[in-house]
Amino acid sequence: MKKTLMDIKLCNKKVILRVDFNVPIANDMIMDTKRIDAAIPTIKYILEKNASLIILSHLGRIKTEEDKKTKSLAIVAKKLSEILNKEVKFIPFTRGEAVEQAAANLKPGEIILLENTRFEDLNNKAESGNDDELAKYWASLGDVFVNDAFGASHRAHASVAGIPKYTAESALGFLMNNEVEHLEKILDGFKRPFVAIIGGAKVSDKIKVLEKLFHVADKVLVVGGMAYTFQKALGHQIGTSIYEEDRIPMAKQYLEEFKDKIVLPIDNAYTDEFADKTPLFTNKNNIDIPEGYMGLDIGPQSIELFNDIIASAKTIFWNGPAGVSEFKNFEAGTKGIAIAIANNKDAYSVVGGGDSVTAINKLGYQSKFSFISTGGGASIEFIQGNSMPGFEAIQDKE
Ligand code: AMP
Repeated sequence: MKKTLMDIKLCNKKVILRVDFNVPIANDMIMDTKRIDAAIPTIKYILEKNASLIILSHLGRIKTEEDKKTKSLAIVAKKLSEILNKEVKFIPFTRGEAVEQAAANLKPGEIILLENTRFEDLNNKAESGNDDELAKYWASLGDVFVNDAFGASHRAHASVAGIPKYTAESALGFLMNNEVEHLEKILDGFKRPFVAIIGGAKVSDKIKVLEKLFHVADKVLVVGGMAYTFQKALGHQIGTSIYEEDRIPMAKQYLEEFKDKIVLPIDNAYTDEFADKTPLFTNKNNIDIPEGYMGLDIGPQSIELFNDIIASAKTIFWNGPAGVSEFKNFEAGTKGIAIAIANNKDAYSVVGGGDSVTAINKLGYQSKFSFISTGGGASIEFIQGNSMPGFEAIQDKE
């Protein structure tokens, strides 16, 4: 068991807190503050314990000097200050005298936010390469390390996995602990039937999680763009739908090996180009999409079939939309899945991934799910059983 915030003494300590403030920004505006909001309970708790905060986060990827202009955390410091109704001092550097002085001068209850940790990637990939010197340097700024950046914890970066090697104490923040506890339930001692729904654009992006779920779940509903690689492997016509030719042999093998588990859509909503147009539908008697048309969602017969399967589940894991849910005309499948899961009140249901969560939010169904994971990529890594360096690096409870 890893230490959590509750296990460490915080009074008068300088807490180095790694969060995931990787928020969407457009035209100098934060488009969605969810990731900031998610870290607030941890931040407030630390401040209430009369500790001070040195906050670290990444924002996007930094490959050139030019990237720095649009990927500064200055705007996030302002927003965090508004949310907390409290001063958040932004230090526009990742190391150097200004950083050291600000950290040294911190008094209990005060907060500083350093510049985007990935600015260090222009310095020989120090952050994403988990540079030891950098980790040691950041660790030297405070007394204890708290990781609340679930969305970044599948990466062995200096600010995530490196710092806790050099602080006297380390712990999981509330968000991180909550994620791990809920996701563990999916892998450990879950009730059957276990139904997984995996969607999204490509098979290759989610091949490992599919494989894991084919082994542990009772049914795996394969939806979204990735279903077409499987449909094609079965010899169906898929028109110009998205698919991956090089994954066809693998899809064939899976369909053979896990034929009792894999459930594919039985009808499609399609149109003649990648656009938000009124759909045409195939049906279960003829699922083939005509030449020149592309499938952009599952159809009503699939929704009905999936609804029945989901209704009988005791454990549900969902990641990825059933279609191009960004288009009004092709959101029905994703919505249908969200509704089916919400209607199953007996099941333990976990959802992760941007588009699935957006669909749930649009329906106002947040409370109807057992757990909504904030980190799409990280939750997938966790489920497929990969190590989480940001989690592993935290000290165990005594
Ligand atoms: P992912 O990030 O892998 O969960 O994939 C999400 C993306 O998959 C969304 O942007 C959807 O628009 C896309 N997607 C889902 N179904 C389809 C489809 N049938 N054709 C093309 N793109 C799709």
